[in-house]
Amino acid sequence: MIRFDSVRVEYEGHVALEGLDLEIREGEFFTLLGPSGCGKSTALRTLAGFIEPTSGSLFVDERDVTRLPSERRGIGMVFQSYALFPSMSVRENIAFGLRVRRLAGGERRERVDRVAAQVGLAPAQLERGVAELSGGQQQRVAIARALVLEPSILLLDEPLSNLDAKLRVQLRGELQRLQRELGVTTLYVTHDQEEALALSDRIAVLSEGRIEQVGTPQEIYEESASPFVCDFIGEATKLTEPQLRELGIGGSGETWVRPEHVHLPDDGGAAAVVRAHAYRGASTLLELEVAGAPIFAASASRAAAALEIGGAARVAVDQGALLRYGPPA
Ligand code: ADP
Ligand code: MG
Repeated sequence: MIRFDSVRVEYEGHVALEGLDLEIREGEFFTLLGPSGCGKSTALRTLAGFIEPTSGSLFVDERDVTRLPSERRGIGMVFQSYALFPSMSVRENIAFGLRVRRLAGGERRERVDRVAAQVGLAPAQLERGVAELSGGQQQRVAIARALVLEPSILLLDEPLSNLDAKLRVQLRGELQRLQRELGVTTLYVTHDQEEALALSDRIAVLSEGRIEQVGTPQEIYEESASPFVCDFIGEATKLTEPQLRELGIGGSGETWVRPEHVHLPDDGGAAAVVRAHAYRGASTLLELEVAGAPIFAASASRAAAALEIGGAARVAVDQGALLRYGPPA
């Protein structure tokens, strides 16, 4: 449905995207994930037609859209800042694109009413000034304004990052349901790995203008393709040489382990000291010192929740679940 073919973007000599190759399937919820400055917004804006690539091509439905004006690409975009018109009502904001397209008043009304209901805006809110709404409600308006044009592709650039944590989780659930319901192919940008794992069918992890890995949330987490991905997604410990020796782990290169694969046996394993623990309800995240360096362990046991800082414990790791990376060639 969407294809980035060696898309390279340079800003005055600075390379923001290094030749991006990416395919996004019809109906997919696809996320570009990476730290600030890695090129996520650049990729999105290039697809939307706001930035012309230095080289490479973009395809939508097998059609080369690289030189096509933005408004003819069938793309709806939602910005982090919402970019609403503050002096207009909610209805006027949502209807804006329809008015530009000279849609008749009656149909305009009908389409705004329908899309407002889809995104969870109450009819009474439509006639209010958009500036009177809360951040969460403004976000719904921004999404409605994009959807009302019935785009075949929806682009969302960090749409939830200005909201508080609880609202963010609520809205992401709503967004996921809405996307499934409409079946609109969605390209989502975030630096929040938890959000990406929760929302996406597939994720591309970006670092410094390059793709580190493309995969399902489970693949990205459980089979992280590089130390960068391993470190960026969730929690993980890179084991030091002394730790590997104490834990009886052989091999060369980097060895990483996720906290849920670090266990606290009654005997055996390596000696550890509890340095920190964070009770999280369903589990406890422990920072343990083993052979002079930290290891993170997640445990659902009551015994783990009861461990005290400074106390002794034993640590063993699931050798089958280690993430290993060969020495650089
Ligand atoms: P992200 O959205 O992942 O935070 P961006 O795509 O915004 O990253 O930016 C990628 C890189 O390009 C960054 O180093 C950023 O500073 C740079 N950049 C972005 N926009 C411009 C611009 N208009 N002019 C020059 N450099 C830019
Ligand atoms: Mg950005």
